[in-house]
Amino acid sequence: MFENKNGRTELSALGEFGLIGHISQHVKLHQPGSLKGIGDDAAVIDNGPGRTVVTTDMLVEGVHFDLSYCPLKHLGYKAVAVNLSDLCAMNAQPRQILCGLSLSNRFSLEAVEELMSGMLLACERYGADLVGGDTCSSAGGLSISITAIGHAQENELVYRSGAKVNDLICVTGDLGSAYMGLQLLNREKRVFLENPNVQPELSGHDYLLERQLKPEPRVDMLQRFTSWYVKPSAMIDISDGLASDLMHICKASGVGCKVYEEKLPIDHLTRELALEFGIDPNVAALNGGEDYELLFTLPLSEYGKISDRSEISIVGHITAADEGYRYIDRQEHEHELRAQGWDAFRS
Ligand code: ADP
Ligand code: MG
Repeated sequence: MFENKNGRTELSALGEFGLIGHISQHVKLHQPGSLKGIGDDAAVIDNGPGRTVVTTDMLVEGVHFDLSYCPLKHLGYKAVAVNLSDLCAMNAQPRQILCGLSLSNRFSLEAVEELMSGMLLACERYGADLVGGDTCSSAGGLSISITAIGHAQENELVYRSGAKVNDLICVTGDLGSAYMGLQLLNREKRVFLENPNVQPELSGHDYLLERQLKPEPRVDMLQRFTSWYVKPSAMIDISDGLASDLMHICKASGVGCKVYEEKLPIDHLTRELALEFGIDPNVAALNGGEDYELLFTLPLSEYGKISDRSEISIVGHITAADEGYRYIDRQEHEHELRAQGWDAFRS
């Protein structure tokens, strides 16, 4: 309706309320507890008995994402996914989200629709309703702030602080792949900046690119834990890398840890590309980040319930605090596990 001749609709032509109206027309509510969504001064939620779990995350252009290689639809998906991942890490089911947007005039209505379509796809996939947000203009770039609301029974909640000596340290999925996806995108961006006529060499790397651009929160694990009759003693989602996030659990629980190189779950595609880039694949797994897998601890007595599960790898065990944070390489040499400064492992 306000579209100009190059198929671009300026946000200024719609105004704030026009834009909100436009966003809300794509939004459907599925959660029975979402009593009032977009359109009043606030949303109204009935979460029933149990505990409400709330988290929020900001994504700022130039700091957290680079639109030169991150498509807006993927960005919207990822913005929701990383918040739902935090809910999973508490063992809470996603229910609602709120979305704050600040947009510069560089963004058109069509761009906002792309972004929102990614957000709504993630909402749909993981059963969360978009029930509100805020929209404002920005002097430069795009910022996205997502708040996610989840639900759990009191006895289902899992904190970082529950790990005990001798607990098993477990991770879901594989590690380091999102980091290698990022390396790939960075390389192609450098090539493009040097010569815009060169086509990007991204074919054959779908898995690693998806892991970086479209992470999936492990909502599926909540149901699995229930059906396996296991409850983690402590849990966190891996956003900064196994080493750093495991240390968060250890600090909160007042314990130490031992992690084994040979146990790290690394996909062969991650391994191959890391070697091509001259990166140690173990370092990508330990310090790469953005995998959004779950890292959790379990009492040793639960070993039989998870030892044969393909989705889970046991990477080590919890020790007493005074044993520190240890990393055992394939030659059985012991190193200090570090959140950074990983070069030391190989020297
Ligand atoms: P107020 O001025 O009272 O804060 P707004 O005009 O900001 O209200 O918002 C009107 C409605 O639109 C509210 O329900 C709000 O939650 C919703 N809303 C605003 N921006 C967004 C957005 N980006 N995504 C989803 N809902 C939004
Ligand atoms: Mg407002």
